[in-house]
Amino acid sequence: MILQKKRLLITGVRNRRSLAHAVAVSALAQGAQLAFAVQPVDKAHDKTTAILNEDFPGAPVLQCDAANDDAIEAAVTAAATALGGLDGLLHAIAFANRESISGGYHEHIDRDGFALALDISAYTMTAFAKAALPHLSAGGSLVTLTYLGAERALPNYNVMGVAKAALEASVRYLAFSMGKDNVRVNAVSAGPVKTLAAAGIGDFSKILKQVQQQAPLKRNISADEVGDAVAFLFSDLSRGISGEVVHVDAGFHITAGFNEEQ
Ligand code: NAP
Repeated sequence: MILQKKRLLITGVRNRRSLAHAVAVSALAQGAQLAFAVQPVDKAHDKTTAILNEDFPGAPVLQCDAANDDAIEAAVTAAATALGGLDGLLHAIAFANRESISGGYHEHIDRDGFALALDISAYTMTAFAKAALPHLSAGGSLVTLTYLGAERALPNYNVMGVAKAALEASVRYLAFSMGKDNVRVNAVSAGPVKTLAAAGIGDFSKILKQVQQQAPLKRNISADEVGDAVAFLFSDLSRGISGEVVHVDAGFHITAGFNEEQ
């Protein structure tokens, strides 16, 4: 029970395949108290709330469009009020126009598509961190989810890779500036997992196959492995770690990487 008495706000759950859902399952199993912030848009989100009410009874579910700073502030404050403070926050939010994450990067990107992907997928981590800071206990831990496309040029990932690079840099700068408040900031770089967001990336099944063939562990990862790694980063067991990107990808990032012809 490494998260006993830890009060965590989880963003980015859409359904039971969401990596954030797996994080919540791991955190609950380790004794955490949870609150959720979900995007309020349409009927699909009623389903998200129903899933969360069923799987995490009693956990507050707050509405929050991460494109709006006031909504972020309100959701974080409401979560902190409901839980009596915060010890951690998971940022698991990303978005890019579908046409920007398929085909050649320069052929499918424009100024608006670039700004949107960077705003929702990278800036929102900083916005949540700023909003959470006044509510965080000493030793608080902020975690976000990133991908290898931040470090390498991969087929189809395109502007999302640029956004993840900004996200990872944000993790380092947040860790640097919030360290004096005794707050840690880290990222988990997850291997590919079939989720709704991943389904938008061109040739995703090919990526899964390549990882299975080339990763040192000769397999893909599962969402619960991401959940367990994030639980560790929320816990005091990781108290000496900040500004880090932990790869949970069956070791794939140490290999020569993708070859489109394979
Ligand atoms: P997911 O279940 O589709 O989660 C993505 C979440 O982002 C959804 O809950 C989505 O809400 C939310 N979101 C998008 N725009 C938002 C906004 N304006 N306000 C609030 N929420 C917003 O997919 P996932 O794969 O678990 O993604 C979670 C994180 O893991 C993302 O940062 C992703 O890049 C990262 N990641 C995923 C993989 C993978 O292979 N799956 C690998 C590495 C990293 P709606 O659906 O309601 O819009």
